[in-house]
Amino acid sequence: MGAVQGPVCIVGAHGRAPVHDMIKAKIIEIFSSIQGEGLWVGRPQVFVRFKGCRLECVYCDTPLTHSKIRNARIEYPPFSRQFETRPLEFSVEELNGALARFAPSSLAITGGEPLEQVDFLEVWLTQLNRRYEILLETNGVEEEALKRIIHLIDMVSLDIKLPSATGEPPYWEMHDRFIEAAGPIGHYAKVVFDEKMTDDEIERLTIILQKHAGLVTVFQPVSPVQKRDLKVCLEIFGLFSEKFPGRVRLIPQTHKLMSLL
Ligand code: SF4
Repeated sequence: MGAVQGPVCIVGAHGRAPVHDMIKAKIIEIFSSIQGEGLWVGRPQVFVRFKGCRLECVYCDTPLTHSKIRNARIEYPPFSRQFETRPLEFSVEELNGALARFAPSSLAITGGEPLEQVDFLEVWLTQLNRRYEILLETNGVEEEALKRIIHLIDMVSLDIKLPSATGEPPYWEMHDRFIEAAGPIGHYAKVVFDEKMTDDEIERLTIILQKHAGLVTVFQPVSPVQKRDLKVCLEIFGLFSEKFPGRVRLIPQTHKLMSLL
């Protein structure tokens, strides 16, 4: 992480508001919790949840991202589960003001799909200048957007979407390019799966993991885990564990097991 610096004006011409005052993001909520997924599980973080996602996974646990809500909610005090509401759109200054109340050391930028608002991310993260440790959680299809901000984040948690779990079409080629783009910094893949994972998906995922030799992959059973056929899920995970020793993990959504946000 870089040195802490004060706010910087990105453009700011005479008589005009600086760019970071004009550009706005749609953000649904800001709250404190313990990271419940992926390789950073257990880490206290402040979550900034961006609105909007062009995918519509059937297991999506943030339905507000596709809704017409007008207000964001901000937890205050941190870890209180009490919320203040305010309009959905944030300028860079407004977002930084909201975050300052949390005194975070680690941020999870999540959604929805944050990369769909990359114009804002680029300005905001440049201005933050790596003040916080940053994890980007993404659906793994917005490769060009990732390239614009990759130098400003610390870790990418990228999804590899399985049609059997999402109800969406496959995105194999897009995921492949996205993983390639994430190469310069820390990253891992997350595969949300259940007992319906098909032989074709096992084959396609195997090809991706073979191609990206260093890629660590977290298998995450669809929540609620109690409703899954765990025997089949463990068999599928076992296949990958044998093929890619040391490179796969099985981690459910642990925050849900503890009823955390
Ligand atoms: S990619 Fe993520 S935010 Fe988008 S619909 Fe799927 S689960 Fe929800």
